[in-house]
Amino acid sequence: MLVDSHCHLDFPDLQTRLPEILASAQAAGVGRLVTISTHVARYETYKALAEANDAVFFSVGTHPHNAAEEPDVPASHLIELSAHPRCIAIGEAGLDYHYDKSPRDVQRKVFRTHIEAARETSLPLVIHARNADDDMIEILSDEMRRGRFSAVLHCFSSGEKLAQVGVELGLYVSLSGILTFRNSEEIRRIAAAVPRDRLLVETDAPYLAPVPFRGKTNEPAYVAHTAHVLAGVIGVSDSEIAKITTDNFYRLFSKAAQADMVRDRVHAP
Ligand SMILES: [Zn+2]
Ligand SMILES: [Zn+2]
Repeated sequence: MLVDSHCHLDFPDLQTRLPEILASAQAAGVGRLVTISTHVARYETYKALAEANDAVFFSVGTHPHNAAEEPDVPASHLIELSAHPRCIAIGEAGLDYHYDKSPRDVQRKVFRTHIEAARETSLPLVIHARNADDDMIEILSDEMRRGRFSAVLHCFSSGEKLAQVGVELGLYVSLSGILTFRNSEEIRRIAAAVPRDRLLVETDAPYLAPVPFRGKTNEPAYVAHTAHVLAGVIGVSDSEIAKITTDNFYRLFSKAAQADMVRDRVHAP
């Protein structure tokens, strides 16, 4: 079984075709999906998706693009919302200096609030980082000194140093369809150096479809293509990469393992 550790099922391209999307994920061996929050204000939508589908978990948080829309959500509110049994992560939160859709100081403040919530709840933080390597390294190092938290650098497309520092700080690194692009030599080289027990795969659907679907609407089923390329990069088989990344998923997102145990009990004859 594969896990798509990061997708956006609430985006119109996916939500309007949800039964079909979930069926093709299942057919491709993608047994679990995490639909990731971009606005705390959309919490009820994510919750409903997870409650309606046994394969779906969700997170709570504010994407850095939207930090200016939700600048003052306190950690206590994130903590409260994350108590739902299928809410398994905080985020996505972080820094995006490529698009700069929210002022950078607001992005940094909102990011630190999410770190606080992740630390308090022991839920992993899903980190979005783009063109912000120096500030990201500084904030992660500083916050880790204040108290440990677990996290994943999602859709990794940053520089080697951020990957190295992230691994040293105990973070996981999640690879998306970008890994499969012809010109992504650098990302494949970085991925090869990440310890195997820190690797995850994701789609970030509906964006960033892997080869051979590049340019089309991405969907969770396609995570198999990224996993296949990652298997080649680290020199293991497709079934080994599925086991490695799924074991890593359940170790990092440990609340998913608890939720699955409850589900299996409920569904037992
Ligand atoms: Zn992101
Ligand atoms: Zn995302």
